Amino acid sequence: MTPAWPRRLSSHRPLHLPSLLLWAVVACAGASWIAVSRLQQLNAAFETDARIVHRLLSQRVVQHDAIMATLALLQPAAAVGDNATSAAPSPLPRLTSVYPQILAVLQRSAQGDWPPALQAELAIAEAISRRTGHAAVAGLNLPAGRYYLVLAATPASYALHIDLRTTIPADEWPMDMATSPVRVTLEHGGEDFVVHPGRTDTAAWSRVYDFHKLLAAPSQPLDVVARRSVGLRELPWWGMLGWCVLTAALWLAGRALQRQRIARQRAEELLRLGQVARLNTLGELAAGMAHELNQPLTALLSSTQAAQRLLADDPPDLDTAQTAMARAVEQARRAATVVGRLRRLVERPDLAGQAQPLALPAAVHDVLHLLEPELAQRGITPQVTTAPDLPAVLAEPVALQQIIHNLLMNALQAMEQMPPAERQLHLAMAPTTAGHVALSVRDQGPGISPEARQHLFEPFFTTRTGGLGLGLTLCESLAQAMGAQLTVSPATPHPSAAERGAEFVLTLAVASAGHDR
Ligand code: ADP
Repeated sequence: MTPAWPRRLSSHRPLHLPSLLLWAVVACAGASWIAVSRLQQLNAAFETDARIVHRLLSQRVVQHDAIMATLALLQPAAAVGDNATSAAPSPLPRLTSVYPQILAVLQRSAQGDWPPALQAELAIAEAISRRTGHAAVAGLNLPAGRYYLVLAATPASYALHIDLRTTIPADEWPMDMATSPVRVTLEHGGEDFVVHPGRTDTAAWSRVYDFHKLLAAPSQPLDVVARRSVGLRELPWWGMLGWCVLTAALWLAGRALQRQRIARQRAEELLRLGQVARLNTLGELAAGMAHELNQPLTALLSSTQAAQRLLADDPPDLDTAQTAMARAVEQARRAATVVGRLRRLVERPDLAGQAQPLALPAAVHDVLHLLEPELAQRGITPQVTTAPDLPAVLAEPVALQQIIHNLLMNALQAMEQMPPAERQLHLAMAPTTAGHVALSVRDQGPGISPEARQHLFEPFFTTRTGGLGLGLTLCESLAQAMGAQLTVSPATPHPSAAERGAEFVLTLAVASAGHDR
């Protein structure tokens, strides 16, 4: 025997695992999408800022080339500034005041030399400049942000002493210098000059965006490096939380709707079963009444006939008595005819003709599903065991449901008197004798007394207050009508208290191959 739990019963528990998992997947996917979109936005903004920074810095350093080219054009000239090698007339002295990033302008005439302290570096740069045709960098001190830019020209070569700190165009800077998290540096040969310190995230998780591009001035090959790290706290937590809450609300609403739908379906099913039960109960009632009425009516008929004969012997008013008696006879006959007609009217339709192959476990599960609120209310979890490969049975679907429903309701009502912890309901489905399948409904209620056993299936036998005593009669006749059999098991009650309770067994015929649709 394999324990089986009706799948549909678990389908609307408060926490339905598959739909909960579905919600979790949707919530996580949505929240991730929101986070990824935010990261993409931040990355796009960073890329734009970094490109603007690169363009601005390139524009500034390209100016140095332009100044040098102008100086070369103004030949012959003299050097000015703190390290001037010769006295020089204007315009050179004014360069440092017009361009604050130029600290000094040096000049070396064809016969002269660079200042002794710089002679070696500047001479090398001058040689490079002469070879490449554009200015060259010398004395690079990136941490201090200073370097010389040397242009070889004839008759005099020039060198500009440049301070990078005043090169930054703060007024055009795309980011807020004080608060922006983007770090910008100029790098060369393992050294760097910090243009904008930005913020480096030291959190456990951070996404880092990088931008590297050489300045657009071949004379000053400095690498513009921009870096932005995005920490966890920059993720759109409120948006992500909002999405999770929204989907959770939708999930709960969906569950509530589904529960409503199931409750409505159950109510409709119960109504249908109830209607069938009422009709059948009415039939039982009418059959009982017919049985009860027929005898007295027959007696009435014979006694009035006797009275008629007696009256005929003692006549003060023979005609009237005879007429009255004749009318009584006529009435009695009519009553008997009515009863006879009523009986024919409520004769049970042939359910055997409507029997069809059915899966018994499915029928049982359907009824358990219907009774789920009653089971939950009484704190009863039914134990269902189904033999493997149970064959289909031959039954009329509604009648079968009606029988199972009645048996289960009786079991539940019987167990109401027991403490909740002792209430147990077992349903077992297994093949019995060849060609039959038995459904047993066993409860742990007070059981059935030997006296009650003898009358269980009689109409109007009940021990319940408010009971009609027609349920089991109806079940038995429904079972018989479709070729099944309903018995109480065992025939005599259990002697031991441990095995108390009642067990009803419905034995159904197996559907043969000829019945398969
Ligand atoms: P009703 O439920 O209206 O009494 P039934 O025909 O269904 O009518 O049941 C007749 C009687 O059989 C019940 O009153 C009860 O005494 C007895 N009975 C039926 N099922 C059980 C059961 N599972 N345990 C104990 N007694 C039962």
